Amino acid sequence: MSMQTELQNKWQQVMARDARQDGQFVFAVRTTGIYCRPSCPSRRPRRDSVEFFADPNQAERAGYRACMRCKPTEVSAQAQYVAKARQLLDNAESIVTLAGLSKRVGLSPFHLQRLFKRATGLSPREYQSARRMQQVKSGLRKGDDVTTALYDAGFGSPSRLYEKAPQQLGMTPGEYRRGGSGAKIRFTIVPTPLGRMLVAATDRGLCSVRFGESVSELDRDLRQEFHAAELHRDDAALREYVEPLLASIRGDQSTIDLPLDVRATAFQQKVWDALRQIPRGQTRSYSEVAQEIGSPAAVRAVARACATNPVAVAVPCHRVVRSDGALAGYRWGIERKKKLLEKERASSH
Ligand SMILES: [Zn+2]
Repeated sequence: MSMQTELQNKWQQVMARDARQDGQFVFAVRTTGIYCRPSCPSRRPRRDSVEFFADPNQAERAGYRACMRCKPTEVSAQAQYVAKARQLLDNAESIVTLAGLSKRVGLSPFHLQRLFKRATGLSPREYQSARRMQQVKSGLRKGDDVTTALYDAGFGSPSRLYEKAPQQLGMTPGEYRRGGSGAKIRFTIVPTPLGRMLVAATDRGLCSVRFGESVSELDRDLRQEFHAAELHRDDAALREYVEPLLASIRGDQSTIDLPLDVRATAFQQKVWDALRQIPRGQTRSYSEVAQEIGSPAAVRAVARACATNPVAVAVPCHRVVRSDGALAGYRWGIERKKKLLEKERASSH
């Protein structure tokens, strides 16, 4: 990941008040001299007055004081329960039940489930399932064969993974091996009013739509993500995808209903499906989307799912704004979000 992308991710996480990042880094505000944890409830400063530090010590060495409101040097009691539960799940050799987990954490099952879901967007059970899927992915990326990766991740039999694979991996496990090895991905890079746009697809559908300033940067990021897939630049083959995307960016009336081939957790999938239901010219708040998918408390996790959308415009994460109408963040820059929304509003009248 480039330095630029990493800073942008951190900024997105700060904008989303992503509590899961607490303890991962702190952000400091030059104009006030104060540093906060990512989930601090205070009003967000301007992007250009913010600096990031790995931990409170570094922020203090640079002359910043801890925020009195979010107390970045203390991890809250709730966060400690969640952290303990995650640690137990991360190290478990087999499936842990909610009852078993709550006994070891020292919280009632009801309370634990609620806290855990609020912090991670997933129930402990969904978390375990997503985690095992991730282990399979990283095993495959390392070059393990499919069976070894499955058993190491605690799947008793390969058929259980293959049942889930199409929706969770996007590709079959064999195809996912080593960063999409075996998968054929075709891509193109075209100029748009929002800068360069990279569009990539497998035989099954779109797998990446992203914006950038230069062809070389976009090309490099794509190769990093799908480092072992067969990548071919093929402008003609991508035309069926590029045209509706461009029409949408220009503000021409068109519905985007392109097939997708993206890897997603069950939760991300739910959020992205909900985003595709937002009509052009309209916006929703993060909490409206959370309600829409039946997880009203998971507002932060919804923001996170928007920030990790791999297919710009095709999944219109730009149509999600803060409840006061402020634009909040956008993975590809707030200016692009603003332009997209302006075009859509103008054309839907
Ligand atoms: Zn704070």
